[in-house]
Amino acid sequence: MKYKYQAKCSQCGQGFSAPTRTELLEKLRKHLWKEHRDWMIRRIKAGQRKRKKADKVKIVGLPASILNPSWIGFAEKPVIEKVTGLPYEEVKSRVLDFFVSMLLGGIKKP
Ligand SMILES: [Zn+2]
Repeated sequence: MKYKYQAKCSQCGQGFSAPTRTELLEKLRKHLWKEHRDWMIRRIKAGQRKRKKADKVKIVGLPASILNPSWIGFAEKPVIEKVTGLPYEEVKSRVLDFFVSMLLGGIKKP
């Protein structure tokens, strides 16, 4: 079953595919937290230390503070919408894109 969107786990090389980007990211996120939890936690901590670097990455319309990967899956929808002034789904998709490109070198597109 090969879907349109594909990505590989940077830790164990397991491949993932899904019919939509959102589903792919959800699969990856679940996998990373389930199989590589310690690594994820280290990664988030490292990300916080490297925040200055991350600030250089331009994501239009999003404050740098939203780029902390620990937001993903933790922040409440109303909080995100209040902080960013953008619809939650929009923010989630941008943050996930950013997160994935940092962690996995991006998503292969057809
Ligand atoms: Zn893995």
